[in-house]
Amino acid sequence: MALSVVDLYRDVLPKTNCRDCGFSTCLAFAGMVVSEKHPLKNCPHLDPAVVEQCNIELNEQYRAGKWLKRDMADDALAWAKERMASMKLTDLPDRIGGTLENQAGGTVLVLPYFNTTVLISDHTITRGDGSALTRWEQVFLYNHMAQGGSRMPTGKWKGLVEFPNTVSKIKSMVDKVEIPLMQAFKGRGEALRAAAEKYGAIVVPKDQHSADIALYFKALPKVPVMLMFTDQDLDDGFPGSVKLLFDETIITHLDIESIMFLSERIKQMLCD
Ligand code: SF4
Repeated sequence: MALSVVDLYRDVLPKTNCRDCGFSTCLAFAGMVVSEKHPLKNCPHLDPAVVEQCNIELNEQYRAGKWLKRDMADDALAWAKERMASMKLTDLPDRIGGTLENQAGGTVLVLPYFNTTVLISDHTITRGDGSALTRWEQVFLYNHMAQGGSRMPTGKWKGLVEFPNTVSKIKSMVDKVEIPLMQAFKGRGEALRAAAEKYGAIVVPKDQHSADIALYFKALPKVPVMLMFTDQDLDDGFPGSVKLLFDETIITHLDIESIMFLSERIKQMLCD
C-alpha cells in the first residue's frame, strides 16, 4: 500500500510541528518525504520500527515513480539525448566544428568550448579533463549537436529581441543576465575585462564599436557572443548598460532556450 502525503501526516507523524526535522510543519516534512525522498528517520520522534515499516512502502512507490517530483534536468537530458540519437559523431565536425580523435575508449569529438574543450563520444559528454559537466550543460550541448546547422558566423550582430519568437525571453535576459552583470561591474570595467579574458574573451578594438568595452567570446566554434558594456555616468544620471549580442546565424545552431542558457552561463562565469 502506498503512503501519500496525507497518509504520512495523518497516520504516522506526531503532528506537533516541533521543527526538529528542519521543516516548519509536519505536513511540509511529509511532502518532502513523499515527493523528494527526504529520509523519514529525520523526524526523531518516530519509533524505528515504524520508520522501517514505512520505508518498505516508500521505497516501493519511489521505484514506481509515484508522487515523486519530476526532475526537470533529467527529463530535459533524456529528451536532448533522444534528439541526438540519430546523429552520427563523424558528421559533427562539418556541422558544429571540433575534431575527431581516437582515444582509449574509442572515437571522440573534441569540441572547443570557451577557453576549454568538451569530449563527446557516442554516449557521453565530459570536460576535456575528463570531469563531469552539469546535466543542464549536457542538455545545452546535445541540443546544439542536434540542431547545429553548418553555417559559419557572418559577423552581423543582433540582440535577442531581433530574433523571432523571443518575446517571452526578453525580460529574463534583462533580469537574469544584463542587470546582474551591470550591478556586478558598474564602475569596474577593468574587472569585467579581466574576468572575461579568463574565459578566453577577446577585447574588441575601440574603433569598432561605440561601447566602453566590447568582449568577443567564442563559446563554441560556430557560436560567438559579443558582450557590450557601457559604464554608468553619475554626472549624466546614466545607469550604464550591458547587452549580449549574437551572430545572426545563432538560431541555426541553438534554440531559444539554449541561447538563454548560454547567456546565463556567461553571466555566471563572469560574476563567479
Ligand atoms: S520533527 Fe517530526 S514532529 Fe517535529 S515537525 Fe518534523 S515531522 Fe513533525
